Amino acid sequence: CGIVGYIGQQEAYPILIKGLHRLEYRGYDSAGVALINAAGDLHVYKTHGKVNDLEHFCESKDTTGTIGIAHTRWATHGEPNDVNAHPHYSTNGKIAIVHNGTIENYNVLKQALEEHGCTFRSETDTEVVVKLIEYIQSTNNCELIDAVRETLNQVIGAYAIAIIDKDQPDTIIAARKSSPLVIGIGENETFIASDATPIIDYTNQVVYLRDDEIAIIKRGEPLRVITNANEPSKIDIQTLRLS
Ligand code: GLU
Repeated sequence: CGIVGYIGQQEAYPILIKGLHRLEYRGYDSAGVALINAAGDLHVYKTHGKVNDLEHFCESKDTTGTIGIAHTRWATHGEPNDVNAHPHYSTNGKIAIVHNGTIENYNVLKQALEEHGCTFRSETDTEVVVKLIEYIQSTNNCELIDAVRETLNQVIGAYAIAIIDKDQPDTIIAARKSSPLVIGIGENETFIASDATPIIDYTNQVVYLRDDEIAIIKRGEPLRVITNANEPSKIDIQTLRLS
């Protein structure tokens, strides 16, 4: 299972697919990608099977865009199928998420959301996270980052996540607890991945996100990292030694 993300000036899709191939060794049963194109449309493509199957599925689709997130899934909640594959997305179709890990209290959160009229497409624990973000954002009328932070404070479990929002086509939000996530800092472009292997072709400047940290990755702006408690975090940029 693995996560890849890209924001910058290049086309995201080929970079994401190459990155997913690099993470194939971790094992997985499904693969998917979410992209925002120049017109501001959010496209989500996902399928049970291999990264090659995803590429085949995407052949006749619009895969343009310079921001995107991608995923290989190792099913823990819900069988491996197309619907349970990531990315998952909000009811309004604006926010997409990829997640590695498990949300232990997803059932309680899911029931609470259902009582508020929320419906679910998949059997995954992950869909609860994006639906809770959407619910908090709309009821509190707050920024996406605040809805993400509030959601992560309600979630119990392990996660590495990446989120894009069609209303914020210049931003990726990434966070982790007990699952690895690496950020690669290039020239006017930023990469994220579960480990450094998808990143090393592009940059040797990396930041290992720590538990309870949230990264706000904006096109053309320096990386910002805060904690789940909304404190600014110190960013440690490390130089990978490529041997
Ligand atoms: N728990 C999530 C699911 O079953 C994520 C699994 C993973 O880490 O790939 O979809």
